[in-house]
Amino acid sequence: MRSLLPSFKPRMSETTSLQQRSLAAVWHPCTQMKRHESLPPLAIARGEGPWLYDVEGKRYLDGISSWWVNLFGHAHPQINAALKDQLDTLAHAMLSGCTHAPVVELSERLAALTGHQLGHCFYASDGASAVEISLKMSFHFWRNTGRAEKREFVCLKNSYHGETLGALSVTDVDLFRDAYDPLLRHAHIVASPDARNAESAEVAAKNAIQALETLLADKHAQIAALIVEPLVQCATGMAMYDPLYLREARRLCDQYDVHLIADEIAVGCGRTGTFFACEQAPIWPDFICLSKGISAGYLPLSLVMTTDTIYAAFYDEDVTRGFLHSHSYTGNPMACRAALAALDLFAADNVLAANRMRAARLNELLQPLAADSRILHYRNRGMIWAFDAIIEDPAKAATFSNRFHQAALGQGLLLRPIGTTMYLMPPYVLDDDALVHLARGTIASFNEVMAA
Ligand SMILES: *Cc1c(COP(=O)(O)O)cnc(C)c1O
Repeated sequence: MRSLLPSFKPRMSETTSLQQRSLAAVWHPCTQMKRHESLPPLAIARGEGPWLYDVEGKRYLDGISSWWVNLFGHAHPQINAALKDQLDTLAHAMLSGCTHAPVVELSERLAALTGHQLGHCFYASDGASAVEISLKMSFHFWRNTGRAEKREFVCLKNSYHGETLGALSVTDVDLFRDAYDPLLRHAHIVASPDARNAESAEVAAKNAIQALETLLADKHAQIAALIVEPLVQCATGMAMYDPLYLREARRLCDQYDVHLIADEIAVGCGRTGTFFACEQAPIWPDFICLSKGISAGYLPLSLVMTTDTIYAAFYDEDVTRGFLHSHSYTGNPMACRAALAALDLFAADNVLAANRMRAARLNELLQPLAADSRILHYRNRGMIWAFDAIIEDPAKAATFSNRFHQAALGQGLLLRPIGTTMYLMPPYVLDDDALVHLARGTIASFNEVMAA
């Protein structure tokens, strides 16, 4: 064993910054910690609306909704009030053998949003766990119905479904997967309908459907489910695609007795313009996974919704035919209450209609970028924008994301490109000043980085 480098144990004093203490004690996610030697993490003191304030009082517009979770801004008065009330009522109770009003009400309201097509709601705490649950439920359904040989999964090229071992096995991101590859059961990876793959979004969708059909025709007897991120493959660079793909995938899944799992963890909760992205196909899948925005960026919560048909296959005298999966914080009342407060805001403020106005305005403000010859594929769906920088020099491309992040901080903006793809995923509370700040800061950061 190599001994610890002394720099891992800095001498602390009262003036040691929060950043230095963080680097000594906190192992940050999705981060090569050594990178922080040159660029320490941003120390956030508080949040208000779409703004985050650092410990020195400088403010940054949260242009990516704090990793896509924060829908209604920070410290929202109504959500805060609901949580304070819930805190004094019931912070947590186990959900096995017990129940409580927030989890019941949330399940009922979500079921109603699917027209009761997916009327059964199973809870966990993070997105990856929801994905694991949907995979296990699908396999277990087939097992309970006498088809235990259906145990393989299909995912799309460049898919992202989380980083626990099961979720990683349906994730096609080399950077996250390669190190753990020996631990994984491999899924079938089929062509992505990414609109950038062909001369039109429709052709890209049709090509991808053909590839899916070829696989299902051959292997359907062993395949339990196809898992997709509806309309936008977010984590691998905001690849947007035609709803036609979902419609045709639904048809093929029906034809070949394969479940369709819609991972709406990132695209759900209004992000693509409808509450569920699948509504734009329009189709209902056999499973919907939700997390991220569902609790408005307040508390960890995830869930899997499914149909009467799936639910009925587990309903039996025999314990082992039940779904025996559990997490300690399953259906946490505080998290469910945050979600209920968020659903109240959707209903009261006509958020989806207001977002259409915001999107039109931001597209207008971003017009100079859309027309810029240094970018490709300017795209927008709902409250997601993305565009790819054209950078010939591989060394410059490799550092683009970090340099853009830095430049944006200088503009009072929190943004983190994925490789050379810049994207915006702001909360649903931006007024015109904030939209102008976001557009101007994005354009200025891009110009600064491209000039360097
Ligand atoms: C973020 C994400 C996940 C994983 O959620 P975690 O809460 O980070 O585990 C899964 N699927 C999609 C589409 C995501 O964007």
